[in-house]
Amino acid sequence: MKVPFLDLKTAHAEIQEQLDAAVLRVSRSGYYIFGPELESFETAFAAYTGAGRALGVANGLDALVLGLRAMGLAPGDEVIVPANTYIATWLAVSQVGAVPVPVEPVEATHNMDPEAVASAITDRTRAVLPVHLYGQPADMDPINALADRYELKVLEDAAQAHGARYRGRRIGSTGTAAWSFYPGKNLGALGDGGALTTCDNALADRVALLRNYGSSEKYVHDTQGVNSRLDPMQAAALFVKLDVLDSWNDRRRAIAARYTEAFAAAGLSVPHVPNWAEPVWHLYVIRHPGRDAFRTRLEEAGVGTLIHYPIPPHLQRAYAGAYPEGAFPLSERLAREVISLPMSPAQTQEQTEYVIDRVLALA
Ligand SMILES: *Cc1c(COP(=O)(O)O)cnc(C)c1O
Repeated sequence: MKVPFLDLKTAHAEIQEQLDAAVLRVSRSGYYIFGPELESFETAFAAYTGAGRALGVANGLDALVLGLRAMGLAPGDEVIVPANTYIATWLAVSQVGAVPVPVEPVEATHNMDPEAVASAITDRTRAVLPVHLYGQPADMDPINALADRYELKVLEDAAQAHGARYRGRRIGSTGTAAWSFYPGKNLGALGDGGALTTCDNALADRVALLRNYGSSEKYVHDTQGVNSRLDPMQAAALFVKLDVLDSWNDRRRAIAARYTEAFAAAGLSVPHVPNWAEPVWHLYVIRHPGRDAFRTRLEEAGVGTLIHYPIPPHLQRAYAGAYPEGAFPLSERLAREVISLPMSPAQTQEQTEYVIDRVLALA
């Protein structure tokens, strides 16, 4: 048996006719930038997340960058970020000229530690950028409380958390969040895509300007914006996929529940879910002290895995010189030990049982 890490082709086959119709509709519409398909998706996504506004942009990184720019982040400002995240979180901060200030996570959840955030605040700190890593919500209440106390902006990196809930509320419903629609995300396009959602109308208006050359009226430019618009073809496909997001997230939950039940019974460590969290299992991540050899054994048994992420941003050449090895020991240990197991809305029960059987035999 073979179990791919993520089987998008099989998942898409269920909705292939609607996806094809969406792409064809745009192809024949005569509208290729902005237009009704983008507006429909933005309205639907704003309603889904519970944010007042949604602005489609070209990708998740741009959603982060434009969110930070619209918040007024400027060169020299410090932004607190997780030490263990995808590098996009850091790159967004660097792109606005600000300085990413990394903090170690809570070991049990791999998510941002509010106490570490409190210790990292200086008089140059302007914002906090928590990530809802692996589709598990970060502990937002204490982070927001610190932000209130020290007058910091909060931008949530929700690239992995479409549909997740924190204390019963959807991610996106209470603040400002950046989303990626990279194809492999829980809500993924047929190419690149992203969005910024916010409950702050003035901020939404600024992002609307920034993503379109700083222009609200053709050939009139109020600010030095960029070209970062969500393609209507992607918006049309995303509209179709938004309709199945909850049911596909339910399938991910069922797979995660079965993994957790089987692994916990065998004494393996399983992802910790706090009682206030309703994750959407973008990734199901376990730890193994001999991760690389374990991964090879799984690969040989036909079980596809990935590592999220093998090198933390502070040890990437892109950030050479910023921090020495050992500066963030927990994040560095996680980078050596984490392994993401197959997780796909198209995964069959037989495939899930096979993964469990092989993990238990080969761990
Ligand atoms: C995917 C991802 C991004 C970037 O999204 P792109 O659409 O690839 O630019 C940012 N942050 C996190 C945590 C991600 O997983």
